[in-house]
Amino acid sequence: MADEEVAKKGKEIVGEGDEAFRDTIATINEKGRRNWIFPKKPKGRLYNARTFVSFFYLIIFFTLPFIKVNGNPLFLINILERKFVLFGVIFWPQDFVIFGIGMITFMVFIVLFTIAFGRIFCGWVCPQTIFMEMVFRKIEYWIDGDAEQQRKLDKQAWDREKILKRGGKWVVFYLISLLIANTFLSYIIGVDKLFQIISEPISQHTGGFAALLIFSAVFFGVYTWFREQVCIIVCPYGRLQGVMLDPNSIVVAYDNVRGEPRSKHVRAGEAQIHGDCVDCSLCVKVCPTGIDIRNGTQLECINCTACIDVCDSVMEKTHRPTGLIRYASETGIKSKTPLRFTNRLKAYSFVLSLLIGVLVFILVTRSAVDVTVFRAAGQLFQDQGDNKISNLYTVRVINKTHEDVPVTFKIESGDGTIQMVGKDLSVKKESRGETTFFIIRDKEKITERKTKLKISAWQGNEKLQTVSTTFLGPVYRPESDGNSEGDHEEDHDYNEKK
Ligand code: SF4
Ligand code: SF4
Repeated sequence: MADEEVAKKGKEIVGEGDEAFRDTIATINEKGRRNWIFPKKPKGRLYNARTFVSFFYLIIFFTLPFIKVNGNPLFLINILERKFVLFGVIFWPQDFVIFGIGMITFMVFIVLFTIAFGRIFCGWVCPQTIFMEMVFRKIEYWIDGDAEQQRKLDKQAWDREKILKRGGKWVVFYLISLLIANTFLSYIIGVDKLFQIISEPISQHTGGFAALLIFSAVFFGVYTWFREQVCIIVCPYGRLQGVMLDPNSIVVAYDNVRGEPRSKHVRAGEAQIHGDCVDCSLCVKVCPTGIDIRNGTQLECINCTACIDVCDSVMEKTHRPTGLIRYASETGIKSKTPLRFTNRLKAYSFVLSLLIGVLVFILVTRSAVDVTVFRAAGQLFQDQGDNKISNLYTVRVINKTHEDVPVTFKIESGDGTIQMVGKDLSVKKESRGETTFFIIRDKEKITERKTKLKISAWQGNEKLQTVSTTFLGPVYRPESDGNSEGDHEEDHDYNEKK
């Protein structure tokens, strides 16, 4: 049978065009009740690789809040106090522009990444998948056994075995949930505050303690009961797959051209009559979201690769080439071209690298000290006598560093001198400071009503920032011109310095 005919026959059997399976989800039955999934324990090359990746992921997740640079956290997402530390760099609400640009860049990155590489993120690094499949599920297999034993245990009465297994599992699940909740909270409030909540009387930290219990209960509920529903129903990224994926996106895909028409009763070598799929249904049994990948790409598929591993093992046992289910694009399967780093992927990768570069550039070039200089409200200029005119300025400095910063000011472009009002400014770490100063200029040098000035802020010999401001003054014209400083139309409203 020609390839095209096999594929056509396959499509008939798979039911291409019959999209009825998309009207329901495997985890909800026709009565709208939960269909509990008992996925078969996965094993294989990709599962081992994912276990390896998760191991490092979990180490990073649980240790990151403890890492400090000069006594300050490397990461902190303190929403309550609106203080964010990324890689040791403090971000303030004033950095919202950077944050906004960063978020837009990040969103564009996610969309482009998904168009090109599908849901690789979900299978390999999403915290939900890592904790569900690599922590809780492994413990479940260890306590309850594989899918068949789990099913049996689920059906059996609440005898001693079931009480012990269920009780033991829930205790372990809750303890891990508590650990995750503690770590999660430490990302928000920092480990020091977390230790205070844990070690000091509850009455002093009722809010923090309640948050800890609520987070633990949520994690326990998610990993014990809600599970794959997070990916299928709740996760916005999952829900958006339908609009982000296209026929060229790389996904976990079943090669229906090669696999169909499927048959349980076929030997290797009969592929010209039947496809390579031996219809063992192991790919369905192993799927944690309960779908049949042979129906095509579905939004429930979290790209966990369990079906790839199990199908490869079937192919090996039946002496067929592996890869009947594999990472591939719909176009690649139709055209029978192996997965290659195509020009399209190269272009996307280039843009993605560029976006990462933009994000890094934004973070690296962001100023650690923000200086704002503006003329004091309600003030125009003051006649200091002695042929001098002054303007009063308010200066606000935000110190985003972990150390106190003494700040001095210089006029960078333009003439004049700076005279501080009060003592010099020293801004405490991670806080803001304010001061005022006069800029005093000679009347003869004031040739414009409004002069642009550049003022630089310095920490010792290190220039922190240069800001622009304006100097207001009466336009001085020599007597010989027939004009004087008093003839300016707005001279009447200046302020005499007392
Ligand atoms: S595991 Fe492979 S051979 Fe078995 S039903 Fe699935 S696709 Fe077919
Ligand atoms: S279809 Fe395969 S890759 Fe997708 S969720 Fe199921 S087992 Fe994982």
